[in-house]
Amino acid sequence: MKIAVLSRNPKLYSTSRLVEAIQKRGHQAVVLDHMKCDIIMDNKGPYINYEGEVINDIDAIIPRIGASVTFYGTAVVRQFEMMNVFCVVDSIAITRSRDKLRSLQILSSSGVGMPKTAFTNFNKKENKVLKHIGQAPVVIKLLEGTQGLGVVLAETNKAATSVIEAFESLKTRVILQEFIEEAGGADIRAFIVNGEVVGAMKRQGKEGEFRSNLHRGGQANVIKLSRAEKSTALKAAKSMGLAVAGVDMLQSKNGPLVLEVNSSPGLEGIEKATGIDVAEKIVEYIENSMSKKRVNKKKN
Ligand code: ADP
Repeated sequence: MKIAVLSRNPKLYSTSRLVEAIQKRGHQAVVLDHMKCDIIMDNKGPYINYEGEVINDIDAIIPRIGASVTFYGTAVVRQFEMMNVFCVVDSIAITRSRDKLRSLQILSSSGVGMPKTAFTNFNKKENKVLKHIGQAPVVIKLLEGTQGLGVVLAETNKAATSVIEAFESLKTRVILQEFIEEAGGADIRAFIVNGEVVGAMKRQGKEGEFRSNLHRGGQANVIKLSRAEKSTALKAAKSMGLAVAGVDMLQSKNGPLVLEVNSSPGLEGIEKATGIDVAEKIVEYIENSMSKKRVNKKKN
């Protein structure tokens, strides 16, 4: 098979590990920069032109679309879908996962545990929305934030009101979330491939930091998930329509609470913490899906 990794930089850990795994499994690997893919549509059907050449020999793609280029990146993934190329994650599922509010709405309707969250048109009645969550401390999150930036812990109702007012004056949308203190500045990441948790790690924020993001100096260690954590992670990924996903959860006194489901989860943290070849699991998933696709084609 010829498998393309959609990535802006072949030197990134995740990209180079995926290329390695594709080759290890006996396939041909290419890295395509999605930002250099031209999307062409005419009456002969959709195709992609890459630096002057028509792309028509790819069997499957592994999208690694950065948050800053979601619109263009998902348009390229959608074009591959239209060309009947197997996509490890669908364009619609990437779009869904990139919208924090929409993701939380989906997760809530799927019934998985999550911190209570509120979103409102503030209209200078900030204290009212605080009442939905209870008392401070509360977590205030920018809807567009990533890597822990734009996640604020307001320790008092007064502080929360000031922060909300400040964001409101900048016309920046935020959500309010109950603070899960007993998580102790840690969260867990379950890496899912095709309905299975292939690895999990616990990330602990540095001293005095409630955010556990590795980008904020957190440390990762392998962890064995409880049955509830496993089933919550699988249910969350399924509800988002993601076959490959990184599900972030907080450990609370009421069981696992999902924070978010990532559609381009990094491989470095999880592979280094667990020693598991996650890249190979993704390539195996492509192989299994493609052979099923061939069998179904024959049957028809
Ligand atoms: P981002 O998408 O920017 O990483 P998150 O919502 O994942 O933002 O929050 C970053 C980190 O902050 C999480 O990994 C977790 O450690 C901590 N955190 C987020 N929300 C809560 C919460 N409601 N209660 C306790 N800690 C939280």
